[in-house]
Amino acid sequence: MSGASTLVQRFTSLFIIRRDQPELVIAQARALSWQVPLMYVVVLGNAYALAASHLGVAPLWLNMGLPTVLTVVCAFRSVGWLRIGGEDVDPDQAARMLSSTLKTSGVLAALFAGWSLSLYPYGDAYQRGHVAFYMAITVIACIFCLMHLRGAAILVTVIVLGSMVAFFAATGEPVFRAMAANIVVVSAVMIVILLTQYREFADLVRSRVSLLQKAEEARRLSDENDRLANLDSLTGLPNRRRYFAELDARVDAARQSGGGFVVGVIDLDDFKPINDAFGHATGDRLLTEVGRRLTAFDGPPLLAARLGGDEFGLIIDAVLEPDALRKLGRDLCATLNATYDLRGVRAQVGASIGFCPFPSGGETSEQLFERADYALYHAKQSIKGTAVVFDERHEAAIRDMAVVEHSLRHADLESEMSVHFQPLVDIVGQRTVALEALARWTSPDIGPISPDVFIRAAERSGQIVEITRLLVAKALREMRAWPMDVRVSINLSARDIASMENVQRLLDIVRESCVAPHRIDFEITETAIVCDFDQARDALAAFHALGVRTALDDFGTGHSSLSHLRLLPLDKLKIDASFVSDIEHNPASEDIVRTVLQLGRNLRMECVVEGVETEAQRDRVAALGATVMQGYHFARPMPADAVPGYLTGEAVSSARRRRARAADAAEWGGDFCREAG
Ligand code: C2E
Ligand code: CA
Ligand code: CA
Repeated sequence: MSGASTLVQRFTSLFIIRRDQPELVIAQARALSWQVPLMYVVVLGNAYALAASHLGVAPLWLNMGLPTVLTVVCAFRSVGWLRIGGEDVDPDQAARMLSSTLKTSGVLAALFAGWSLSLYPYGDAYQRGHVAFYMAITVIACIFCLMHLRGAAILVTVIVLGSMVAFFAATGEPVFRAMAANIVVVSAVMIVILLTQYREFADLVRSRVSLLQKAEEARRLSDENDRLANLDSLTGLPNRRRYFAELDARVDAARQSGGGFVVGVIDLDDFKPINDAFGHATGDRLLTEVGRRLTAFDGPPLLAARLGGDEFGLIIDAVLEPDALRKLGRDLCATLNATYDLRGVRAQVGASIGFCPFPSGGETSEQLFERADYALYHAKQSIKGTAVVFDERHEAAIRDMAVVEHSLRHADLESEMSVHFQPLVDIVGQRTVALEALARWTSPDIGPISPDVFIRAAERSGQIVEITRLLVAKALREMRAWPMDVRVSINLSARDIASMENVQRLLDIVRESCVAPHRIDFEITETAIVCDFDQARDALAAFHALGVRTALDDFGTGHSSLSHLRLLPLDKLKIDASFVSDIEHNPASEDIVRTVLQLGRNLRMECVVEGVETEAQRDRVAALGATVMQGYHFARPMPADAVPGYLTGEAVSSARRRRARAADAAEWGGDFCREAG
């Protein structure tokens, strides 16, 4: 029962137009759009040939009348089909055409079969043979032409062959019966082949559709990947990669059009403390809000991107004079400065901005960005929270830097570099407890260069490692002329502690110097720690293992956090001079100095206050509890040969020095070479 019903189902499915598979319907219509007209040509051509062989035999109205009427019908339908082949078919239209062809093919088949059989009684044996031949050959042509519409092909075959077999069986003519049997066998085989072919055709269409769908999906995924690869996942802004791609495109477009635009780099001030104090989730919210404020900024059209950390990039699509640009910078700073409400946490950050306009500031995207970054660096150095526009002065400074880098590369470091020393004074004991070694370089080509300049140049070129080794050796050599209870403090750069090999070389120099390691402090900046925390910790541990102490320089200006202080073996904090310079007028600076001094006491770290220039500053800092200070108020950096005289002139009793020397010798007796006092 169920077998029979599946058979019925399968049979009826042959006559169904698959509107649920629009691609299949369209492919069928495309094939039939020329096969159906071709079929009409064959059917009508053969019909007129049959009519011709019956001219004068059969009545004219029968012989020619029906073919003429059917020619009109076929021509009408052919036009419909040819039109479908010529245009972009929509699936509904195609389905309608298929369905009407399915219906009309049955009617037309019946009419043609009826007409040809109606000629049979009029003809002689040859003409009757022609009728049979016409029906057989035409039905085979129809099966071929209707291959893509199975239902129609089967319908035509069944109607034509059915009537033919029935008719010839009724005539009782054995030859015609045999002919009918021949044609039934051939047609059956052809129908079987047609069904197989059609299945393959439909499968092919379906697999093409699925391939197209897969390709479409792949394209969609790749578009999505592209989008994600170009977006900053936190803020939803374009990321660094996209920013530089946009910058390249702007440069190309502006070169062609002769237009201009401005590159901006923004760095948030004091973002790190907020991150540390309130956690990363709050920090993330703040960055997201910064992104939102930049995107919503009411001003010239701009593209804002997050370049990483708390750094953002801008491309401003407008030509602006420096004054207008500075005004825009002020507005942007004010926008970013407004209080942030971060789910219960109210916070405030400043923003410093560097601008570089195209084409006056630079001509390539690298140059523009580098120069905007340079302007940002200047904003951070001079007045945080402002915007600086790259100009000729900066360009001159860069040129100077290039000259410095060049001279430094060709310098005879051993003879051109020297060390000056600046005392660190204990104001309670009223004596110098240590001297900071400060590098000095006088180039025979360009004269004396500030350490701020040549140290940065050496750090950029990598020469700093060599320079530090040389300066450490020189400083330790000079120490032989100092009292044993006076220490030395030597500055290291990030690169000096960036590998254990560099650290070991420094320790070798200490060992070879015969200076007791406990008389040496190495000063490192917060930047060196933030660069690679684990490496910095290992380096400091190696210094400690030999007895060398460590100090954190310029404390308060960088990005180190309280956890850094806790996790690193640091002995000393040097509170940056910037907090002292305005301590008399800025209560915030006074608070910071007080807090850091308190922090130092809690962490059992010695604190040195740098940059004390006046008596008033000294008193203010002393009132906050500081005991060790450094600054022009006590002494300026002096050449090495001035140090012994300075120390002698200091009102320090020689007896105390002797006592200290004796104590020192007892502690380190025999381990190190005798040091000259
Ligand atoms: P620093 O390590 O913070 O050194 C202190 C700087 O402040 C010195 O500048 C010193 O002359 C200056 N200074 C001292 N007292 C006062 C004061 O009362 N007021 C003012 N305004 N300044 C004061 P200097 O010698 O020009 O060195 C500048 C920077 O160059 C140093 O800052 C340090 O970062 C770097 N530097 C100097 N020598 C070396 C070195 O041998 N190696 C490394 N890596 N860096 C060095
Ligand atoms: Ca220092
Ligand atoms: Ca310092």
